[in-house]
Amino acid sequence: MKAAASRKRKASPSTPDRPDRTEALEAVRTLIRWAGDDPDREGLVETPDRVVRSYEEFFSGYGQDPTEVLAKTFAEVDGYDEMIVMNDIRFESHCEHHMVPIIGKAHVGYLPDKRVVGISKLARLVEIYARRLQVQEKMTVQIADTLQEILRPKGVAVVIEAAHQCMTTRGVHKPGVGLITSRMVGAFRDDPSTRREFLAVIGRSNAGTLPNT
Ligand SMILES: [Zn+2]
Repeated sequence: MKAAASRKRKASPSTPDRPDRTEALEAVRTLIRWAGDDPDREGLVETPDRVVRSYEEFFSGYGQDPTEVLAKTFAEVDGYDEMIVMNDIRFESHCEHHMVPIIGKAHVGYLPDKRVVGISKLARLVEIYARRLQVQEKMTVQIADTLQEILRPKGVAVVIEAAHQCMTTRGVHKPGVGLITSRMVGAFRDDPSTRREFLAVIGRSNAGTLPNT
């Protein structure tokens, strides 16, 4: 049952009837024409290909299973019971409402219980979820819950601060607006001193009332 579910997730995290590259190129040409320009003029001829290549990079997270990345690499260690924190993990994502960039940084911490994972894997985890269409709150929860599920630590803390270009370049046009989301699980939620220690490490010791997503 569980294997079937994870196989399904791996096979089609996006859509079952994924269009091919030619259709994607044609879609970009359509958008250029719809915007009022000519996709055949010199400066735009190569644009659909560039856009599609950019999208392959922006959305490469759909082809990667974060569970697998973590599961392959954790190590069992006895006796290490201090908090592990990686802060200022820069990421670029795209908002699922407007498909424009969300740029920010994530701070990820956990309190291990026998299992630890190489610190670079925390950055990889952030990157895999960032390279999908996202809502910041959802991404915060996904990172925290995946870590909790795989490593089974005593607690997980994730704080994300980001600027949304859909707010700064269109619509309400509010430059400099940042959104902060957080998810505290286990010891980070239940034990104020653990939470304080984490917030101090990430330089947010004053943020006693972070929203818990
Ligand atoms: Zn948006």
